[in-house]
Amino acid sequence: LHPLSHSVIENSYAQLPSHFYQQVAPTPLESPYLVSINIEVAKQLGINPYSLDPEDLIQICSGQGLLAGGQPLAMKYAGHQFGVYNPQLGDGRGLLLGELITPQGQRFDLHLKGAGKTAFSRFGDGRAVLRSSIREYLAGAALKGLNIPTTQALCLVGSASQAYRDGFNEPCATMLRVTECHIRFGHFEHLYHRQQFDDLKLLADYCLKRYFPMLLKRANPYLDMLQEVIRRNARLVALWQAYGFVHGVMNTDNMSLIGETFDYGPFMFMDQYQPEQVSNHSDHQGRYAFKRQPEVMLWNLYCLAQSFVPLVAQHGLEAKALLEQALTEFEPCYQSHYLQLMRQRLGLQFEQTEDEQLIDDLLVLLKSQKTDGTLFFRHLSEQPSTGLHTGLGAVVEHPQAFTYWLNQYQTRLTLEQVSEQARQTQMQQVNPVYILRNYMAEEAIKAAHQGDFTLVNQLLGLLRNPFQKQSDDNQYAEEAPD
Ligand code: AMP
Ligand code: MG
Ligand code: MG
Repeated sequence: LHPLSHSVIENSYAQLPSHFYQQVAPTPLESPYLVSINIEVAKQLGINPYSLDPEDLIQICSGQGLLAGGQPLAMKYAGHQFGVYNPQLGDGRGLLLGELITPQGQRFDLHLKGAGKTAFSRFGDGRAVLRSSIREYLAGAALKGLNIPTTQALCLVGSASQAYRDGFNEPCATMLRVTECHIRFGHFEHLYHRQQFDDLKLLADYCLKRYFPMLLKRANPYLDMLQEVIRRNARLVALWQAYGFVHGVMNTDNMSLIGETFDYGPFMFMDQYQPEQVSNHSDHQGRYAFKRQPEVMLWNLYCLAQSFVPLVAQHGLEAKALLEQALTEFEPCYQSHYLQLMRQRLGLQFEQTEDEQLIDDLLVLLKSQKTDGTLFFRHLSEQPSTGLHTGLGAVVEHPQAFTYWLNQYQTRLTLEQVSEQARQTQMQQVNPVYILRNYMAEEAIKAAHQGDFTLVNQLLGLLRNPFQKQSDDNQYAEEAPD
């Protein structure tokens, strides 16, 4: 048994009926080694990062040692995958090792992704490879850096064990994923579609108590919980749209009850602004294309709301009508968050109805000019409003195409009450210098396959503070190479 820096570890999920999960220990990996620790996550857990023993982490994350106090288990859930209901999902390669309770009393799940086969592995090998683990590890830090709710990982461990993917053997890895919530929409769908309504209530009560305690005393806490889930996920997808993040697999088993970015494999931060962008090569119909994410989120919330019918009906109310009413909140909630975020990115604090048109016009332009949105917004944040055309050639191919819009924007900025300096400072706090571009992750993966983890850790540092330029001539602050 290995103490994770003397933390208190429990497992409240294991107190639920035993058919909610399978109790199973990790399958050990061969010759494990540490790739990276995210010290910000350690701090979030109330752990002094320098007190973390790398050997401990390697033992726990390779499955060679067990976490003292934890009761490793694989959760059972279902979900809609690409629009089709799959009743047979569940943690096929990840285990909830236990819940760490911080000195402040906050409870975080420690979930080991890539821990080996479980009862829910179906045809899978129970493993995660180093390549995709590096991508998820860095993406967690990158989203967090952009202030977008997300799961993160405490550490990443590689190994000599191998797994077969797309024609190649690749090194296996594990990630210790940290979040308050591993409950997916699919947890509710599973119990609803099997008509286990008593269990559904147990799950809902567990979630209320743990994630939404402020709703416990409400007249209809289940309805209010759903409303809260709708609001949080509306805000989440607004953030994705405002920052060009494509999730890639918005199946309902990958949607978090607390509205965090969760379980992302083939995600992408777009280089050029491209609404049709699909990041998942197995998504042939473009179901999860960038521009479709808000409507897919709403569709997913409908699936969740369906599962809430028996819960809300318990209160002798018109369950369906109430749930549908709650769902109508999604659209205005999404729109107002999105608009607010785009206003911030443009440095517009004073609200004007015409702002929406200004934003729409810009997006049309960014699309037609195949512009790197990240670089463009940062450019606006670093120039005086009277000199927006200056240096534009460095970030767009045809600067003259932007003249009309920039003039409109410049006029609009004159309505703002704040100083130039204040505007630029505010904009630089929301317009990143760095995003996790695919090629950057690819370079880090290539080096890691050679046993060099410097770049993984360097990118981790850049992405955790993406609004801060880290050195004068930094290639990662520029356009992606062809
Ligand atoms: P995903 O598409 O990654 O969200 O995964 C869908 C389902 O497949 C989940 O139940 C996963 O646990 C399971 N799964 C994915 N990859 C593997 C694997 N290599 N071995 C076992 N199960 C897996
Ligand atoms: Mg998943
Ligand atoms: Mg996955």
